[in-house]
Amino acid sequence: MKEKVTPYLKNLSTDPQIKLQYYISEYESQYDNGSYDDPLMEDKHEAVKGLVHKYDNRALIKVSYQCAAHCRFCTRIRQIGNPEGTLNEQDIGNIIQYLKNNSQIEDVILSGGDPFYTPKLTMQLLQQLQMVESVKIIRIGTRMPLQSPNSFYTKTLEQLLEVIDEIGKRKPFYILLHVEHPSELTEEALDVITLLRNRRVTLLSQSVFLKGINDSFETLHELFTKLYFAGVVPYYLYHCDKVNGLQHFEVDSEKEIEIATRLHKELSGIACPTYIVDIKNGYGKIPVSLNFVNSETIFS
Ligand SMILES: *Cc1c(COP(=O)(O)O)cnc(C)c1O
Ligand code: SF4
Repeated sequence: MKEKVTPYLKNLSTDPQIKLQYYISEYESQYDNGSYDDPLMEDKHEAVKGLVHKYDNRALIKVSYQCAAHCRFCTRIRQIGNPEGTLNEQDIGNIIQYLKNNSQIEDVILSGGDPFYTPKLTMQLLQQLQMVESVKIIRIGTRMPLQSPNSFYTKTLEQLLEVIDEIGKRKPFYILLHVEHPSELTEEALDVITLLRNRRVTLLSQSVFLKGINDSFETLHELFTKLYFAGVVPYYLYHCDKVNGLQHFEVDSEKEIEIATRLHKELSGIACPTYIVDIKNGYGKIPVSLNFVNSETIFS
């Protein structure tokens, strides 16, 4: 995966916790043998081009493999930047047909790549997706508000937000903000969050434990507090996926459990995300037991 940083992030990269997220480090090249794997087995579950159907009632659509900036810890390091991931009209047609044929899919997540990076394509997809009656919930996963907040004031992105707002009148629409560190929540990023809050969407967040970036109680406590003060509900906190090339970001599981347990004790319930491992071989997301008392004590 090539290095890609926005001018905005370049300015923020005096902060080591931002720099480590976007610039290639000596550790990465140690593992980069050009053969990135797919432990979550997304490719195996790709039912039609761009649509990953792993959970019965939910599907994930990769709109493209393009993002405003490339995160070195990306689960899809094998794909990001490849132009072949961009959906065309026929791909969208096939995806819509698949959803109609599989009406058990009620919850669709647009991801990629970043759907906000290709606003015209995302609009095209959303216009058709909203007509599929069996699809009750639509979500978009994004990092753009933290990578390129100024983009949200361009005409095409304003149009996309207009479309989302319109869909939000009829179907619950969720925006999943992927945030790793409190330094990412700058004034500019918080302004975009406010902009999104003025639309008919529910804002959730996702984060990944990353060694040297956010693997401390204080950092994550600050992150989740800032998020919920901004009206974003922390949803998931992941263990780093076991993808070749990301090993140097992986935090020790004992340490994570200790931090997650303390977060659960000290944060407001709505500020505390669920700690999850998306386990390899495609079994899916599993919540990790925290280090509280044993079940005998709980139910006695
Ligand atoms: C994470 C994920 C989902 C959504 O899972 P939730 O637990 O409902 O948020 C759906 N499909 C795929 C392939 C996923 O990785
Ligand atoms: S924005 Fe998301 S999809 Fe794109 S490189 Fe970063 S983590 Fe990966």
